[in-house]
Amino acid sequence: MELIDKTIHELHRMLIGGEVTSVALTRAFLQRIAETDNRINAFITVCEEQALKDSEAADRLIAEGKADLLTGIPVALKDIFLTAGVRTTCASKILDTFIAPYDGTAVARLKERGAVIVGKLNMDEFAMGSSNENSAFGPVKNPWDTSTVPGGSSGGSAASVAARQAVATLGTDTGGSIRQPASHCGVVGLKPTYGRVSRYGVIAYASSLDQVGPISRDVEDCAILLQAIAGYDPADSTSVDTPVPDYRAGIKDGVKGLKIGLPKEYFIEGLDPEVKAAMEAAIETYRGLGAEFVDVSLPHTDYAVASYYLIATAEASSNLARYDGVRFGVRVDQGRGLIDMFEQTRAAGFGDEVKRRIMLGTYALSSGYYDAYYLKAQKVRTLIRQDFLEAFQAVDVLLTPVAPTPAFGLGEKVSDPLQMYLSDIFTIPVNLAGTCAMSLPCGFSSAGLPIGLQLIGKPFAEQTLLRVGYAFEQATEWHRKKADL
Ligand code: GLN
Repeated sequence: MELIDKTIHELHRMLIGGEVTSVALTRAFLQRIAETDNRINAFITVCEEQALKDSEAADRLIAEGKADLLTGIPVALKDIFLTAGVRTTCASKILDTFIAPYDGTAVARLKERGAVIVGKLNMDEFAMGSSNENSAFGPVKNPWDTSTVPGGSSGGSAASVAARQAVATLGTDTGGSIRQPASHCGVVGLKPTYGRVSRYGVIAYASSLDQVGPISRDVEDCAILLQAIAGYDPADSTSVDTPVPDYRAGIKDGVKGLKIGLPKEYFIEGLDPEVKAAMEAAIETYRGLGAEFVDVSLPHTDYAVASYYLIATAEASSNLARYDGVRFGVRVDQGRGLIDMFEQTRAAGFGDEVKRRIMLGTYALSSGYYDAYYLKAQKVRTLIRQDFLEAFQAVDVLLTPVAPTPAFGLGEKVSDPLQMYLSDIFTIPVNLAGTCAMSLPCGFSSAGLPIGLQLIGKPFAEQTLLRVGYAFEQATEWHRKKADL
C-alpha cells in the first residue's frame, strides 16, 4: 500500500516509529495533487511552501517526542474556513482576492496539533449546492467517474480524500454538504450535533443549520479529527459548553443489543433500486453483528425540503448582505454612487444559484410574507425535531440512505433546481433537527459508483455513531476500495 492510501492512525504510527517523515509525506501528497488535480479540480489553492515549512516543524515535534495524533498529517480544508495569510474564496468571485486576517477556530485547533494544511478545497459557491457545479472555479469531478458529480457542497473535501490528495479534510454541512459528497465519493463524513464544533471563522451560509465536520478514509480517522475540533469556543455563542468525550474510547464495543430504527418515510418509491439493495445488505450485516431493527416513523419528513429552503435562504439573504464591495473582496465601482456600487459588485460577484437563494430568502422575510413562510417553516422545523426525539425514545440510532441515487452526471440537474434540491431529501431533516449523522461507504452501483449509508444519532451522541460505524467497517471492505485514477 502506498503512503497516500493510508489513514491518519496508520501514518501516525509510521511517523512516530521513524518509518516516514512528515516532509516526505507532505511531498507525496503535493505530488499527487499535481498529478491528479487537472482531472479532479478539488483544489482552489495549494499551499505548497507553507505546507513544507509546517511539515519540517512537525518533524521536529515528532523528534522531540511531542507528537499528537495529527502531528505531521497532511490535511486540507474546504475554502469556507478562514485561514490567516491564505486566500479564502468560498468558491465565489466576490471573495476572489480575500485574505482573512485570522484562522477559524477549527483550523487553529488542527494547527495546534501540528496538522499540515496542504490547501483549500473547491466547493459550491457559499456552500449552496449538491453537485459542486456552482463554483466560480469550475466543477469538481468525482474520482470514481469523472463524468459524474462528487456531490456538494463539500465536493472538493470528499473528492480529494477519494483521490488520495489529502489524508482527511474538513467540510461544512448545512443540509447534507458533508454526508452527501462523502457518500458519492465513497468516503466517511460526519456532521456533528449543532453546537458541537465552533463555527468561528467559517463563512456563514445559514447560521441556524451550519456545522463543521470531518471527511476521512475511515471511521477511526473521523473520530480523531472530531476530537481535535470539537468543544466549546467562547467566540461562537452557539457552541455548547458540554464536555467532549473521548471519541475513540468504546469505538470497538460493537452493536450487540443495539436498537436501530428504520424510518419508513426514508424507504420510499423513487429510491434507486441499487441504493435500496445496498441498504438491505447493510441491515443484514448489522443483524449478523447482533443489532436489533425497529420500524419507526418520522411523519413530517415530507415537509423538510420545503421548510429548509425557506429557512436556509432567509438566513443566507441576511448573511450575504455583508458582501457589498465595501468591506470584503471584490468591488465594482463605476463612479455612479454608493447604491450603484453595491448593485454592480453583487451582480458581478455572485453566481446564479447564490442570487436565486438571496431572492428567495429576501422574499420569505419580506413584510406580509414573513408569517406565511419563514415563521411557518420554523414551526414545521420544531415538528421535525420532535419526530426525531420521539423516534429516539425507542431506538439508539437510525439507519437510512444518504441520497436517493448514486452520483448523477455532470450537467444532469443544473437546469432543474428543484430536482437538485430534492437530492438532499434524506440529509436535510437532520440539520433541521440539529442532531448528528454520519455517512459510510456501504456498496457500489453496477456502474461502479459508491453508495453511502446514513446513521443518525441522538443529539451529542457522536460516540454512538462512531461505534456503530466502526462495527460496520470491521465487517465490510467497502471503505478499502480505491478509485482508480
Ligand atoms: N445542498 C444543500 C443546499 O444547497 C445543502 C448545502 C449544504 O449543506 N451546505 O443548500
